[in-house]
Amino acid sequence: MSTVPLQLDEIHALARDCLLAHGCDEPNADAAARTMTAAERDGAVSHGLFRLPGHLVSLDSGKVNGRARPREERLTDSAIRLDGDRGFAPLSIEYGTPLLADAAERQGVAVLLIRHSFHFAALWPEVEALAERGLVGLACTVHTPMVAPFGATRAFFSTNPIAFAYPRPGRDPYVFDMATAARARGDIGVAARDGHELPPGVGLDADGNPTTDARKIHDGGVILPFGGYKGSAIATMIELLAAGLVGDYFSYEAIEADNRDGGPAIGGEFVLAMSPEVLAGPGWADHSEAFLDELAGMEGVRLPGARRFAHRQDTGPRHVNAELVESLRAQR
Ligand code: NDP
Repeated sequence: MSTVPLQLDEIHALARDCLLAHGCDEPNADAAARTMTAAERDGAVSHGLFRLPGHLVSLDSGKVNGRARPREERLTDSAIRLDGDRGFAPLSIEYGTPLLADAAERQGVAVLLIRHSFHFAALWPEVEALAERGLVGLACTVHTPMVAPFGATRAFFSTNPIAFAYPRPGRDPYVFDMATAARARGDIGVAARDGHELPPGVGLDADGNPTTDARKIHDGGVILPFGGYKGSAIATMIELLAAGLVGDYFSYEAIEADNRDGGPAIGGEFVLAMSPEVLAGPGWADHSEAFLDELAGMEGVRLPGARRFAHRQDTGPRHVNAELVESLRAQR
């Protein structure tokens, strides 16, 4: 694959210019471009510029509102509902996360319920923003069906990601961010293209039979949840939090509402913030640090997030797929 070296500010400018050219106003373009640039910075390439064509297609089709303004509603002192105005999620997240953090600092626990937005990104930016404020964060969202519940043969869940961050004063937080599918859809696509076998337990073929053939999973088959019935239960919890509790579409409803333009699906996001200072009280940081140091010091263990944080230290250019860059440059 040939690549083009781009500095982070060039990546941001390219994303922002394309979004502006396709109908976003500046706040919406900047927020979405910041999220994609952060993904490139952290080596999370599948959520970097790779996602930009999907953003543009959904602006062109009129599915996403490029001039969205999130509207906040205070349900209680510790519950904030945000209407995303059918815009891309990053603006709602950047608007809502500081409000959520303020509420959690006051109340000990607070929730942010984002409705009517299009999430096409990783979830670590929102939970890391909470950890930077000294808070524990948990976030989840849904999109459209790709994953069969344990025991079933038909897609019903989306790949239902969940992220968690725990603050570590003076250090990078403990953070994981993962889909609850056995494999990301993109990984299966790559394996299918390259003719690679997948391990057992990743998916079923179009007839509902277990297969390790990536092409059979990709073309008409379904992905399975990670960890069998346990992953299926966590995926169900994510549907209930991000759709049932937020009051937005479940995955199977979101696909009905979608124009299938290849961009993101409308839906909700659930974000929970908890203050260890309020809940555990003084000494929480030293207590938790001792645990995390013990964990990280075990032979063979690496903490989730460590790969991304290592990428973040790199001040050099990122090497982006040349074909993608060429096509984006033609659209700005
Ligand atoms: P991975 O399986 O690559 O990684 C999941 C988590 O496990 C990461 O926190 C990762 O940390 C950590 N990890 C990976 N390898 C190890 C290891 N050997 N030891 C310890 N920890 C490890 O991610 P997924 O494919 O499940 O998800 C990728 C992204 O896709 C997520 O950011 C998710 O939010 C996003 N997504 C978004 C959706 C949406 O609708 N918006 C839908 C589905 C997914 P590290 O990053 O440091 O490797």
